[in-house]
Amino acid sequence: MTCAIISDIHANLEALQAVLQDIENYKVDKIHCLGDIIGYGCNPIECLNLITRHCDIKLMGNHEYIVLGLLNLEHLNDIARASIELTQKQLSDRELSILADLDMDAEIENACLVHASPYEPEEWHYILTIPEAKRAFESFDQSLCFVGHSHLPRIFSHYPNRECSSRVGHDLDLDTECRYLVNVGSVGQPRDNDARACYVIYDTTEQQIQYHRVEYDVKLTQTKMMEANVPLMLVERLEIGR
Ligand code: ZN
Repeated sequence: MTCAIISDIHANLEALQAVLQDIENYKVDKIHCLGDIIGYGCNPIECLNLITRHCDIKLMGNHEYIVLGLLNLEHLNDIARASIELTQKQLSDRELSILADLDMDAEIENACLVHASPYEPEEWHYILTIPEAKRAFESFDQSLCFVGHSHLPRIFSHYPNRECSSRVGHDLDLDTECRYLVNVGSVGQPRDNDARACYVIYDTTEQQIQYHRVEYDVKLTQTKMMEANVPLMLVERLEIGR
């Protein structure tokens, strides 16, 4: 079976449409979404509708969690707070109830799926360093864990009795001896200096991971964001992917 795993769409409709179109080329069996469908961008409802229609597993991200009022806005910076408030204004009870139904984590074959970290998923920890990855490996039983959240495509590998290692997201034939933590990158707000949308295809039969990068109409997204009064920093970072 093959599945596409997407994350961190952030209400970027053009990026999501381009990714869904690209996925069609690979005839995957399923599409799973690791959360942060909304926040930052200006098309939360359209993105939510597309995710609802196309995705099998749909997980909660920290942006959904905040919009639902489950996390205090106090510790957010001004830009994040402004974007959350813009999103909250657009969503009706119908969309909020879809968000409230999202799962915190899920399991497929030999892999667990979660937005941020397999430990304390509702604390929204980032997994960026080897110690953080080590803690993550101790917190799931499967061979693989797919995450999003940092918007940085990266694979952490952990062989038994060896130190963890990490590399930028790359195509990989999985070794049955090894366990992996795979960050699938971001569809709508990439931050690895590559403006193209990012997602992963996981072939559970061949045990292969493939990263895909997809160009989309960044200028159109930026124009719409400016018209919607999205903070300029969020608009500008799209074209440099940072
Ligand atoms: Zn995100």
